[in-house]
Amino acid sequence: MDCIFCKIANGEIPAATLYEDDDFRVIMDMGPAAKGHSLILPKQHYANIYELPEELAVKAFSLAKKMATAMTKALNTDGFNIVQNNGAAAGQTVFHFHMHLIPRYENDGAGFGWNPGSLTDADREEVLKKVAAVLAE
Ligand code: 5GP
Ligand code: ZN
Repeated sequence: MDCIFCKIANGEIPAATLYEDDDFRVIMDMGPAAKGHSLILPKQHYANIYELPEELAVKAFSLAKKMATAMTKALNTDGFNIVQNNGAAAGQTVFHFHMHLIPRYENDGAGFGWNPGSLTDADREEVLKKVAAVLAE
């Protein structure tokens, strides 16, 4: 399989590496939203959160906490976003699971987010009912 993040995570293609262990490599994003924007990459290929084994999901979030804490101290950030996209509709462009670590600074102009809608009665009832049904399966 020709996956750029597999090659980077396993050291076949060099990348600026902030951290590495048996399961993950943390690299600097080549198109940063803000200074220090980095990516947590598992060394094994999983396309998205649905494929990622639960054990690795737990380790990934634990690593995200460690990295966010270290980067906040090292870079003196004012805030921090952790972003994780699944599927093209959600903005995923590289189909190897990854978590974005995005240091934020006052007035950094890194404009991502959403336009808030409003929660309708119909949507609330539909979503609560449908998700409860799947969780009960
Ligand atoms: P996604 O949109 O899939 O959530 O995020 C993909 C991210 O990977 C983007 O922020 C993009 O800048 C970054 N990226 C894509 N290809 C490369 C690469 O070859 N090297 C590095 N360091 N980052 C990459
Ligand atoms: Zn891959």
